[in-house]
Amino acid sequence: MSSAISLQHRPRWKEVDVIRRARWFIVLVCLLVVLANAWSLVEGRTRQIRQAELANLNLARALALQMDAVFGEAGRLIENIAFDLEQRELSDASLQSMQPALVHAVAQMAHLDNVVIIDAAGRWRLHTQPTSPADTDKGTQPYFEHHRFSPSASAFVGAPILDRASRRWIIPVTKRLNDPFGHFAGVVLATVDLEQIGRVLATYEVGARGAIGLIHDNGTVLARRPDDGQQMGRGLASSRLHQIFAGRTRMSAEATSPIDGEVRIFGFQHLPYQPLYVLVGASKREVLRVWVRGAVVQSAAVLTMCLVIGLAGASVVRAVRQRVLAESEAREAGLALEASNLQLSHLVRHDALTGLANRRYLDSMLAEAVARGSASRNPLALLMIDVDHFKAVNDTLGHQAGDECLRRVATVVREISEREGGFAARYGGEEMAVLLLDHERPMAAAESLREAIECLVWPDTALLAQKVTVSVGVALADAMTLETPDDLIAAADRALYAAKAAGRNRVAADPHAGSKS
Ligand code: GH3
Ligand code: MG
Ligand code: MG
Repeated sequence: MSSAISLQHRPRWKEVDVIRRARWFIVLVCLLVVLANAWSLVEGRTRQIRQAELANLNLARALALQMDAVFGEAGRLIENIAFDLEQRELSDASLQSMQPALVHAVAQMAHLDNVVIIDAAGRWRLHTQPTSPADTDKGTQPYFEHHRFSPSASAFVGAPILDRASRRWIIPVTKRLNDPFGHFAGVVLATVDLEQIGRVLATYEVGARGAIGLIHDNGTVLARRPDDGQQMGRGLASSRLHQIFAGRTRMSAEATSPIDGEVRIFGFQHLPYQPLYVLVGASKREVLRVWVRGAVVQSAAVLTMCLVIGLAGASVVRAVRQRVLAESEAREAGLALEASNLQLSHLVRHDALTGLANRRYLDSMLAEAVARGSASRNPLALLMIDVDHFKAVNDTLGHQAGDECLRRVATVVREISEREGGFAARYGGEEMAVLLLDHERPMAAAESLREAIECLVWPDTALLAQKVTVSVGVALADAMTLETPDDLIAAADRALYAAKAAGRNRVAADPHAGSKS
């Protein structure tokens, strides 16, 4: 048995790993919760904006169709009037005869304010208003100039005009009149009442900060809700908003209003047959207000949840850590105890000087071997070894050299014993014993042991001069009728004395028994 016993500290990396994993797990759970929340918030925001875009597009489309019908109606009316006029002469009498029919037609159309027939000189020749306006000379209006120089026969929707007579904003829808030779003969004008259009726009709900606009392709605002009275006729041609939608038919976009600076989600729809478009803009702030409120509440709940998970997780990790530490300490204490027990049991059963088994251990091994008996034909053998003239070693070289001598002899005894499959012990003083079980040639084993000691190379020249030898007595269990281990020891003693008596440095069998070699 090895005398070198060390405490084994098992590595605690597994426990450390468990704690680290638990921490990462908690961090991961919190991260996942936060990410899921972020994803749901982004998703909710996108959905909210998409809904607003859809609602605005639908409203813009409905309004565009409605506006198209209004201007289409005015256009068709003046087309009919122009056709009628081009068939006849522009005499006062013929114009007078048309008036009742025109008044009736205007009365049928809710958004129409007036119909005017203007001659090539710009003079009002006929109108459907009950009173004659103050300025009947429309020759300076842009639409008049447009038709005078453009041969186009199409109806023209002009910029809004503040009618000085009625003090109302109107949109002129005009058409050129030609004489039989195709020369400019005047203009037929239908005025669309912007108050009416404004009333139509006001019936739609787009939130407190939302806006609806009817805008000409040239960027002129024709009508707007909310209406502060300042926006009619305003030019947006250079604004980014107008440029986003230029040339398109239908689209949504987020943009800042050039009128009030509000960021809106716009739905844009061009009128199918008129050079106009409708913009419906919902305030982004208003669209996202409910979402922002929900997001704040949801995020607060998620953060609270993460905090709870984190705190609970930290306390679990702390508890696991304490348990792991306690287990580890207990295990280390157990290992230390085990090691000290092993050391203790080694000390109890071994001799401190030589490291061989001590007398107590030899006695128990001997008792066990004798009790078990030998099942084989080879008997149990006990070799009793005594250093010759050892007293002299002590006396001449001192007890420390004597101790060193005993240690070296013991080393040889152990080596030979192990080689022969025996059990070596220090019997007492300078006497040692080797127990051989089922050994075929115990006498030969004893002889090789004696020889090995005789041939020992001693580093200490004094010991060399002393010539250390041993005498060995060999007792065999089957050679007599042995009852107890003491009998075997007594037999080995007798054999040892015989070896001593015969001159030492030799092997002898028990003289009371037959020898076996
Ligand atoms: P022989 O056996 O040949 O008859 O002569 P001997 O000198 O060996 O005789 P004896 O057995 O009387 O002497 C043994 C001596 O061994 C006596 C004792 O002082 C010494 N001794 C016993 N145990 C130890 C020990 O542990 N260390 C040392 N240095 N000496 C020991
Ligand atoms: Mg002795
Ligand atoms: Mg002796």
